[in-house]
Amino acid sequence: MSSIAIFGSYVLSRRDDTQDVLRDHWVLIEGKKVAAITKDRPSAAEVHDRPGRFILPGLMNLHNHCFSEAVARSHTEDGNGRRNNQSIVYTVLLPLTKRGADLLSAEERLAVARLGILQLLKGGATTVMEPFRNTIPEMFDAAEEMGIRFYGAPYLFSTSDAKAGSDGVVRYAGDDGAVDLATWNVLYQRWNGCGEGRIGLAMSPHATDTCGPDLLRACAARARELGVPITTHLAQSRAEVETIGKRYDGRTPAEYLDWLGLLAPDLLAAHCIASSDSDLKLMAVRGAAVLNCPRVFARSGVTAAFGRFAEHGVRTVVGTDGYNMDLLGELNAASMISKLALQRAEVASAPDLIEAVTATAAALVKRPDLGTIAPGATADLTVIDMTHPHLQPLFDPRRALIALGNRANIDQVIVNGRLLIDAGRYVHGDEAAITTAGAAAIGKIWDLPEAQAAFNG
Ligand SMILES: [Zn+2]
Repeated sequence: MSSIAIFGSYVLSRRDDTQDVLRDHWVLIEGKKVAAITKDRPSAAEVHDRPGRFILPGLMNLHNHCFSEAVARSHTEDGNGRRNNQSIVYTVLLPLTKRGADLLSAEERLAVARLGILQLLKGGATTVMEPFRNTIPEMFDAAEEMGIRFYGAPYLFSTSDAKAGSDGVVRYAGDDGAVDLATWNVLYQRWNGCGEGRIGLAMSPHATDTCGPDLLRACAARARELGVPITTHLAQSRAEVETIGKRYDGRTPAEYLDWLGLLAPDLLAAHCIASSDSDLKLMAVRGAAVLNCPRVFARSGVTAAFGRFAEHGVRTVVGTDGYNMDLLGELNAASMISKLALQRAEVASAPDLIEAVTATAAALVKRPDLGTIAPGATADLTVIDMTHPHLQPLFDPRRALIALGNRANIDQVIVNGRLLIDAGRYVHGDEAAITTAGAAAIGKIWDLPEAQAAFNG
């Protein structure tokens, strides 16, 4: 059995179910498990004894979009691509991602997927939940091959081609998601449990305004039959709130999901920025969770404050959505934006945010063996190099990590006891080759006339 010993100047452990930072301890990994946390140097086949390391449970990024992020990057900032100040999700990103997925070969889609997984790993994540078009199943291949823990969430739509009209309203017709549900089932059969258990699926109806009642009920029934999490986009714009209100007797998007039985502890709902206070209270009562992704909204001038959801008692975690997959950068933004929005410095504290992407996230996917460093826990670890000049001198490692850290400080990423990132580099492939191939494939999408019109018109 393989064994790895890592020295941590700081090790994030738990005592009485709260965080406890140990000074100068070793973490011993045997096989896929944490075997011990010791004061003395243990014997191990592989020893990493570097100064100033902060060993954390593997960070969990439960909402990200590798493919559409790559399509959008450096095109959509500063309001580019927007019309009438509308969100670009339905007008630009979904149509372009669909066209792009059809246009690229399987090898090119795999190249984009690899680039995305590389970013996620280098951003510090050991576990990700990635909602994506079901025409990009290569996301699973890349995740299996590259070693990350992956909840693939292939979308279901009530229409196969969700587009907003000039009024911003999404309309749909067709098979009401029957083909998407069949595709999801095929992918589940093919992938669930692969990669020595690292690969799983989440049920992924796209959003409240692109999925009708029958499809949402069918999704929930199937997910609960299999015991997989349900993830969706909820109240991500004012337009969505208006659309759902008009369609369903004045219900809010949260009330719509509650009416259909989806607002429950197995629901991970992205964004909720247009949720009312009473919606958030309802979510807290039902045990549903918010996936807070502050930077994609900040980019558009919209506030998505972790602290607002947390203060309503809603279980809240942090994901990168379509913003460069730097989970430490996202936590920093979650902290700053919460303090600005609530005008209080103590909200969204460093321990709160670290808890969100470790123990809370692990609880949401019902994996108590993740999100903690303890004997018997699964050996998913994120190790931060706290010796960088911008992190020194250092009094409190958690505050330093959230207030001052970013992806450049990621030293090691370990999943299932296997070292994937070491000294900040991916150790099982050529980063430059992965990056070049992914960028070339995305370039084909950027060359499409509709992309030119959307971004340069
Ligand atoms: Zn999303």
